[in-house]
Amino acid sequence: MTTRATRGVAILGSTGSIGTTALRVLERQRERFHVSALTAFSNAELLERQVAAYRPSFVGIVRNGAEPHPGWVQGPSCLVDAASRPDVDIVLNAVVGAAGLDATLAALAHGKRVALANKETLVMAGALVTAACAAGGGEIVPVDSEHSAILQCMTGRPDVDVKRVIITASGGPFREWPVERLDSATLEDALKHPTWSMGRKITVDSATLANKALEVIEAHFLFGLPYERIEVVVHPQSVVHSFVEFVDGSVLAQLGVPSMELPVLYALTHPERVPDDGVEVFDPVKLSPLTFEPIRTECFPAFALGVQAGRQGGAAPAVFNAANEAAVSLFLDGNIRFRDIGAAIAGALDAFGGMPGNSRDALVAADAAARHFVKDRFGC
Ligand code: NAD
Ligand code: MG
Repeated sequence: MTTRATRGVAILGSTGSIGTTALRVLERQRERFHVSALTAFSNAELLERQVAAYRPSFVGIVRNGAEPHPGWVQGPSCLVDAASRPDVDIVLNAVVGAAGLDATLAALAHGKRVALANKETLVMAGALVTAACAAGGGEIVPVDSEHSAILQCMTGRPDVDVKRVIITASGGPFREWPVERLDSATLEDALKHPTWSMGRKITVDSATLANKALEVIEAHFLFGLPYERIEVVVHPQSVVHSFVEFVDGSVLAQLGVPSMELPVLYALTHPERVPDDGVEVFDPVKLSPLTFEPIRTECFPAFALGVQAGRQGGAAPAVFNAANEAAVSLFLDGNIRFRDIGAAIAGALDAFGGMPGNSRDALVAADAAARHFVKDRFGC
């Protein structure tokens, strides 16, 4: 009898929305993959259950509670430890925010595939991450549904054929709100995403459209495209996950019901496709009509600020990302209003957008300056 070796997957952020989705996907792919490492921030109870079900060889927790967990690695360095292990072939980085940076760099330096959900990493330090990828021989495969769609449309074709990409955006819960009404938008309103069920931070980013600016910068670094060849269109049904236009005018798109299971699976198997019996059947009639509209940029200042920060380069994308993270955290804690998020980002970019961004330390300093500024000016 011959046995085929399965590939080891580390899931960083296994207790979150993407992390739990990934475990559901892996459950159906046991003949191809096994879980070799799991890490979480503080949800020890769920992590315990995952450890019992998947028996990884490494478990890490950033903040352990009172309950002792012998054998678990504790503290922020557990992410890098998990990402660097020899029994790990693929690192699914599903951590939220800039905290995922060092683990992405470590995985790439060890020549591993990074299935990247943690887009903040690429926004904060795109040049550094792509350089680490080239130097270490690793690869970055996006988990974000829009970038997965672009990759699926581009795979097998030379990059020179691509004229532009058009990223779709649901438009979020405030898509149709008049600009004046946004003054009274509450946290509860912002957390009511019309098509996706996700973690709280990205759900707020989808309401401000900061998420789409993060995704434009992410596409710039993933596909090496200049900003003028990356566009965004609002598509409220979230069925078309993005378009790629080729030099001959032909446009390809990838479609599917709004679920992160396919993008997670594809990030593990790219460029191959494998059967998955858990997918909801695609029914174009049920999903119709599919509509498209422009972004109302006057209502969502975080979008234009983020794209401008991407074009500016240097530390500006790191400042944009850090100011957004700090402002969203204040908003989630009820300390600022919805529209203060855009104002906080604008203020931080004015103050620190011109800082250098040519090393990890420079980017970390710009990130810290932006966070400090937002907490100081906007926090209670
Ligand atoms: P989430 O809040 O549900 O989960 C985040 C996970 O990261 C948790 O397991 C948490 O324990 C861990 N974590 C949080 N802070 C940490 C820290 N400082 N150090 C170590 N671990 C930490 O978030 P999510 O919705 O799963 O999103 C994760 C990432 O995926 C984000 O970058 C998000 O933008 C991206 N993403 C998510 C979706 C989605 O559908 N949820 C879609 C596309 C991209
Ligand atoms: Mg996305």
